[in-house]
Amino acid sequence: MSFKTTCPYCGVGCGIQISRSGSALKLTGDKDSPVNRGMLCIKGQTLLETIGTDSQRLLRPSIGSWDVTVKNIANKFKATEKDRIALYVSGQMLMEDLYIAKKFADSYGIKNLESNSRLCMYSTVAANNRAYGADIVPVSYDDIYLAETIFIIGSNTADCHPIVFNHIKKSKAFVVCVDVYETTTAKKSDLFIQVEQGRDMALINDLPNQEWFKNKKVLSIYSQGLTQSTDATDKVNALINAHILTQNINKPGCGVLSLTGQCNAMGGREIGTKTKDLTATEFFSTSQIKTLWVMSTNPAHSMINYRKFDTLIVSDFTQTLTTKDADIVLPACPWSEKSGHIKNSERRYLEQNAFLPPAGESKPDWQIICLVAKALGLPGFDFDNVEQIWQEMAIDQTWSARIKVPEVLVEIGPIDRIYKHNVVNNARLLTQWHGMTRTGKSKTLNKMTKKNSKMVSIHHTTNADLFKDKEVELDKYSKQPCFKG
Ligand code: SF4
Repeated sequence: MSFKTTCPYCGVGCGIQISRSGSALKLTGDKDSPVNRGMLCIKGQTLLETIGTDSQRLLRPSIGSWDVTVKNIANKFKATEKDRIALYVSGQMLMEDLYIAKKFADSYGIKNLESNSRLCMYSTVAANNRAYGADIVPVSYDDIYLAETIFIIGSNTADCHPIVFNHIKKSKAFVVCVDVYETTTAKKSDLFIQVEQGRDMALINDLPNQEWFKNKKVLSIYSQGLTQSTDATDKVNALINAHILTQNINKPGCGVLSLTGQCNAMGGREIGTKTKDLTATEFFSTSQIKTLWVMSTNPAHSMINYRKFDTLIVSDFTQTLTTKDADIVLPACPWSEKSGHIKNSERRYLEQNAFLPPAGESKPDWQIICLVAKALGLPGFDFDNVEQIWQEMAIDQTWSARIKVPEVLVEIGPIDRIYKHNVVNNARLLTQWHGMTRTGKSKTLNKMTKKNSKMVSIHHTTNADLFKDKEVELDKYSKQPCFKG
């Protein structure tokens, strides 16, 4: 027996073929997938090492049966003013999960629904809206093979989106990489331009004067190095402006491609997991929110202003730093035990298909949210299966390699504003993913990561004194290096 699914890690969206012979499973890259054409990076190749139940797997609700737990959550919601409740969802969740989370928030009157994609993607969303009038990604991976120059800025594509980088290396394009330090991508590019932290805007504005940019078919690729920086929205718009000024837009091999970090970050953008009140960072940096429901993300690990809440509810498949803090922990199914859709960086809708039954009492996120919605008396949450949700969503799945966008220059702010604060760069490793809640379960990946496990990389412009008293230790749950205290 053999079937197809999609890798749950990054926004590349690689197709996977899983075959079963008796109880043995075999995983390979899907040769028919237009995204990866059979290729998988090491994280995708080792996915089967991360499934099953280990001692950290969450198998049942932490405070009793599902009935007791759901009633308890409904009571807590009823006892809390609606503007003090927030849902913090994730780009790990499937389209159907996010649709139900949004439907629940809208039905119950919760304005504070945000995705962890806020941290990486929302500057791109804002820039796209300013440039194109909508959050449009006008190009696709096909353009990699049609470009003469590939301009990579703020993206260590070789380590963070390896299969996209494989496509880049297979293309005949001249590859230019801009970053603040010599990444793997920089080493493998034809030209590496090292910039001081915060000085990239001047370089972007100068692109129309560069020989390898003007009069060439250029595809620009970026990720969090651009979008998690100061003036991020302006930088993305400056990049789009450079393409418009050189007529490098709306043609094959030309345009700007943002690489999304999580498998369904793009899907969340489409569904609109975006606050009507506080942003995700404000959930943590202000005291307004009293009851927070976190789904499939680990803010205790990743959110700089992480704080305690009166009631913290967490849905996840495994123990994390955040579940450790939670009042109620709900066992959610991981990718191998639930089905639905994701949307990748080039806007394709891709299927994830369950190949294992839910372990213990765990449930897909959409089912958990529906249980709480029904306990609160909300209509419209009686779904028997995930297909019914997909039908209700009625998404037009037509895909085209290129979307025509307006060619209107966007005015950007003053260039080269340098903020006099200390700067810390974070990065993704080729052999691990985010907080390592899943990849940390792979023996192969851990062995490959071991040599870097005590390494914390600090940019040379950062005041190293800030860290001199910090003891670097491995986080108990993720085994990720972190500062103590
Ligand atoms: S490139 Fe991303 S989607 Fe593809 S196998 Fe690797 S982690 Fe999975």
